[in-house]
Amino acid sequence: MHLVRIEVENFKSFGGSTTIPFEQGFTAITGPNGSGKSNCGDAIGFVLGPKSTRSLRASNVSELIFNGGKSGSPAKHMSATLVFSNTPEIGGRRRLRSDSDEVSFTRSVRLNRKGDPVTSYRINDNPSTATEMRRILSEAGLRGEGYNIVLQGDVTNLATMTPHKRRGVLEEVAGVTAYDEEIRKANAQRKHVENNIRGGPEGEAQGTREGEGAGPEIQGTEGRSRPRPTHPGAVKA
Ligand code: ATP
Ligand code: MG
Repeated sequence: MHLVRIEVENFKSFGGSTTIPFEQGFTAITGPNGSGKSNCGDAIGFVLGPKSTRSLRASNVSELIFNGGKSGSPAKHMSATLVFSNTPEIGGRRRLRSDSDEVSFTRSVRLNRKGDPVTSYRINDNPSTATEMRRILSEAGLRGEGYNIVLQGDVTNLATMTPHKRRGVLEEVAGVTAYDEEIRKANAQRKHVENNIRGGPEGEAQGTREGEGAGPEIQGTEGRSRPRPTHPGAVKA
């Protein structure tokens, strides 16, 4: 999956609009100290989120808005956009859940009249939400706290961590972690539904009495003396 370009507007040191293209292969960003090289990485982390602003080297989200530098005036809004290519791969499948060949993810912050920051999200320029954006990105294995961005020190950490932890990292990179999380959620829901089927609050209370354990009640589907649950929600679920 290829990040084609980053578009930033009033993001940190980038006053006005700037586009940073990434050709296929290797791109190096060079420049004097303090010229904004690391801010390019921060822009990627900001869109991929969720990240604490501290990890983007700002104490709050307002500090990510261009402050005017030495002579300019401070901006009231900023945005960062990541544009990914999404052409079908072998087998015709697209990595991102969108029909277009390029997909853009934008996260913006503007200051309201009181001066408080208000965040908004767009996918291909259509309004979206943080949840939807994270879902689509993580389906394609892109997460702010994942290993899409490898920082100085990460390589040493990988080499020295325990095999168990390294396995966790590899599972995350392979995209297994997202499915584990789905399985965990589904299991929690299943347990909840099973409790309902067991007879709701009444059944639960009775199940704790001695000699009336809930276990056999769940397994036995008929012929038990205790009444079956009556509320339809529990049975349907
Ligand atoms: P180095 O070579 O030292 O690592 P760098 O090229 O990575 O430097 P960055 O850390 O990306 O530089 O950028 C730091 C610069 O960004 C500083 O000059 C800082 O003043 C500027 N900066 C950070 N936040 C803002 C902001 N909100 N508005 C304007 N400038 C900002
Ligand atoms: Mg730097």
